[in-house]
Amino acid sequence: MSHENKQDELNQIAEEISACTKCELHKTRTNTVPGHGSANAKVLFIGEAPGADEDEQGIPFCGRAGKFLDEMIESIGLNREDVFICNTLKCRPPGNRDPEDKEKEVCKPYLQKQVEVIRPKLIVTLGRHSTATYLPGAGGISKLHGKPVRRPSGQVYLPLYHPAAALHNGGLRQTLLSDFGKIPVILSKIAKDTSNKIQETNEEETKAKQGKLI
Ligand code: SF4
Repeated sequence: MSHENKQDELNQIAEEISACTKCELHKTRTNTVPGHGSANAKVLFIGEAPGADEDEQGIPFCGRAGKFLDEMIESIGLNREDVFICNTLKCRPPGNRDPEDKEKEVCKPYLQKQVEVIRPKLIVTLGRHSTATYLPGAGGISKLHGKPVRRPSGQVYLPLYHPAAALHNGGLRQTLLSDFGKIPVILSKIAKDTSNKIQETNEEETKAKQGKLI
């Protein structure tokens, strides 16, 4: 699929999201926040849910945590337009409360469609909600952060702490920067890895392979 066609598909998904009323969050949102970046992104970042700034502007990670995310992206020689940034939920939970399981469930197909269009080499989950959604049962973020995991589908994930957590904890800032610095090496390993094939597998195999480093 050409870049233009992929971009058209992403625009179509964003339009569907803007009209979505599948959960109660549509009643309190100012704007939907579908995601931002390149249709050809090699790296796709998934945060938890839009906050106040994101709801106001319709752009993911546009507040203080977003500024830190931009700095980290630039530290590996990329910028916001080279990657794709989005959240597990496309609308802000009131008062920045945690996303509810049923909200994540009904919203998930939008992100799945975006991933199918972009086909990123690496999906980076930011924070515990996003990580638990994509690597269920694998453990907490304090155990998983900075360790790439290849799922049986062939898709590689890298769990990281959420950039907002580092704003309140100086120690985490350094950990996050260090974990982020692994992304170029992981991308290069993925490019060389000839076993990057789609495999059919069962749930037991899925669980067994979670946590395994590439
Ligand atoms: S959070 Fe997702 S499912 Fe809920 S209204 Fe927004 S786009 Fe629809």
